[in-house]
Amino acid sequence: MTTIDGRLQQVKHRINAACLAAGRAPGDVGLLAVSKTQSPEAVREAHASGQCAFGENYIQEGVEKILELRDLPLVWHMIGPVQSNKTRVVAEHFDWVQSVDRLKIAERLSAQRPDHLPPLNVCVQVNIDAGPNKSGVAPEDALALAHGISALPRLRLRGLMALPEPTPDFIAQKLVFTRALAVFDQILAARLPGWAEFDTLSLGMSADLEAAIAAGSTLVRVGTAVFGERPAR
Ligand SMILES: *Cc1c(COP(=O)(O)O)cnc(C)c1O
Repeated sequence: MTTIDGRLQQVKHRINAACLAAGRAPGDVGLLAVSKTQSPEAVREAHASGQCAFGENYIQEGVEKILELRDLPLVWHMIGPVQSNKTRVVAEHFDWVQSVDRLKIAERLSAQRPDHLPPLNVCVQVNIDAGPNKSGVAPEDALALAHGISALPRLRLRGLMALPEPTPDFIAQKLVFTRALAVFDQILAARLPGWAEFDTLSLGMSADLEAAIAAGSTLVRVGTAVFGERPAR
């Protein structure tokens, strides 16, 4: 039976191999373990193998896990949709929100971020392949949203996130991810306030992390390949 520890090592091997193939330094690309629908015990197991950053999609489930695992020094990323009536609980518990796609949500997160916590790290989510029912700001509107976020006192604009439709083919995957890199570069070039911390391009999951790394990803979000098949919610 493959353990979480064994799977984590395999995923790290894949990341390292993809970095080498792309002529990038291993260590350029971070691993976010996506623990949605996984038990707190599974997160503990991953942490025991050295994993510290975890991603959650569902707010209530994520907050329960964060509270349950308060004794561990973990960094929690919200990667799923955030409705405006849920911003407070997110601002109070998470370290990052990668799924910001409207200024109104960003404004609420900033206003509701407690003073005793450091600024909340946020990424703009970009709808890079124009999925019809998908979250994410249109690529042409990403810079304006980033500009608005950069003016909010309790947020730290850290980068971009994209979640394209799965495609089996490496070349097609890389092409879509490269469009996200172009939006990232455009925002970086604007030298918004705090631009030196705009360093995160969150692209790639279990099935397409190699293509994402080839296209410039600095953070892959990996669920199944770390924890195994997800239990039903
Ligand atoms: C579930 C999820 C992932 C991880 O997907 P896997 O295919 O299990 O690696 C990554 N990013 C987001 C936004 C997700 O919802």
